[in-house]
Amino acid sequence: MEGRNRVGVVVAMDGPSGSGKSSTARAVASRLGLRYLDTGAMYRAMTWWMLEHAVDVEDPAAVAAHADQPLIISGTDAAAPTITVDGTDVAGPIRGPEVTAAVSAVSAVPEIRERLLVEQHDIIGSGDIVVEGRDIGTVVAPDAAVKVFLTADPQARAVRRAAEQSGSDVEATQRDLVRRDRFDSGRATSPLAMAADARHIDTTPYTLEEVVSQVVALVHQATQRIGAARFDS
Ligand code: C5P
Repeated sequence: MEGRNRVGVVVAMDGPSGSGKSSTARAVASRLGLRYLDTGAMYRAMTWWMLEHAVDVEDPAAVAAHADQPLIISGTDAAAPTITVDGTDVAGPIRGPEVTAAVSAVSAVPEIRERLLVEQHDIIGSGDIVVEGRDIGTVVAPDAAVKVFLTADPQARAVRRAAEQSGSDVEATQRDLVRRDRFDSGRATSPLAMAADARHIDTTPYTLEEVVSQVVALVHQATQRIGAARFDS
């Protein structure tokens, strides 16, 4: 039987926000029947908890002292990903402006990253999953069979993000994206970076469907190479 002893594929998808990473990762997972993990949502959930508990997010020692407290559960169904903190559904609140403004500071704290890394490894388990974030190909899953690094020009990213968050203006969104990129790329622990063996795709000129097709093709090539199960698409 084809499924016996097969290696589950891991697709690592990194890049800055607004690069088309989330939509692409979910669509690739759905197309190939893989699970999906949004590690950014885990950092956002951690940040939501810190704000709820009035922890000063600009104080790394205070954030580190609470790193083990929140219970974060991530659902990995690509059709309907879920996230709860201490049993509360936070899928909506973690996308709000307060969390977005604070998340880079919280995710720069090494104790936070260490803790979430353990949970990310648990969830990835034996694979068959698309994982999106900033450090998946470099730190979380350096052995992933497929590594993709998505970028897009800042104007295109801001237009996409502002459209997702109805009512946001493009210029303010672009300023926020550039600020977060700078912070995420410059931090000491696991900065946003492209793995040496990742495929770089600049999504600016492509539709979502075109990017999804490119990544699906990479997964098929990789699964043939490593002898894993083939996926129908
Ligand atoms: O992807 P998203 O914009 O939701 O991520 C929110 C923030 O979480 C990022 O700006 C970054 O600070 C942090 N993050 C991270 N490492 C990851 C995923 C997200 O530091 N693997």
